[in-house]
Amino acid sequence: MSGRVTIVGGGPGAVDLLTLRAARALADADVVLYDRLAPHDDLAELAPRARLVDVGKRPGHHAVPQHEIEAMLVGHAASGAQVVRLKGGDPYVLGRGGEEVLACHAAGIPVEVVPGVTSAISVPAAAGIPLTHRGVSHAFTVVSGHAPLGDDELRHLAGLGGTIVVLMGIGTLPSLAAGLARHGLPASHPVAVVERGCTPAQRTTLGTLGDIVSTTARARVASPAVVVVGEVVRLAHDGDASAAELMDRAARWSVVA
Ligand code: SAH
Repeated sequence: MSGRVTIVGGGPGAVDLLTLRAARALADADVVLYDRLAPHDDLAELAPRARLVDVGKRPGHHAVPQHEIEAMLVGHAASGAQVVRLKGGDPYVLGRGGEEVLACHAAGIPVEVVPGVTSAISVPAAAGIPLTHRGVSHAFTVVSGHAPLGDDELRHLAGLGGTIVVLMGIGTLPSLAAGLARHGLPASHPVAVVERGCTPAQRTTLGTLGDIVSTTARARVASPAVVVVGEVVRLAHDGDASAAELMDRAARWSVVA
């Protein structure tokens, strides 16, 4: 069989949030290049024939640079291997999947993309936060917080009125909170930060634009985490006793809205 690359979205970290298509690609793989955020604990069972290569970032350690990952994908496939590139979430949501597809095209290597469950939607959901809710929010925007947002972006986001979801946003949370407030969102606007979503170590920190920076600092909130800004955060219940009250309040808004 000739070599090929399958770029697989692995979901937010729980092995049972892998798709059947992802599991099938792993079962057929000769080589798996995986990221830190991909579900990798069970890879030995899921990809029993494959050589497993960790190319992910770890705090304090260097990740394999993107161009080297692309060269490895192409090199293994050119020598006839079934190569799986296992990524966290969905490959095309802030995941550099597009760059890897282009590298394969440029080298004449057949490549396929298997979509995954993105953390942008599934991690808030795991904390009880629907990104849209009738009468509360009918839109959501997913942005990267890797670098601080520009003033124009902040103004548009603040004016849009829907839910804002930020990935890679812990380092830039102070500038996001200050920027959205500067462009008119009230200090009382709800914010949630969900760390390590869909894993046994999931934790949700709730606050407002005015206090989320100090609250998350006190709780030592760390990456990986998804930041959610918007009224839908009031629906977060996480199974606790205030859930009924929160749902009740939301229902009352939807009548007014
Ligand atoms: N392609 C991925 C996103 C890659 S960017 C996707 O679709 O999910 C990496 C960022 O994703 C992290 O900084 C964090 O913001 C988020 N993330 C991924 N998995 C997560 C998880 N299990 N819990 C919380 N955040 C997660």
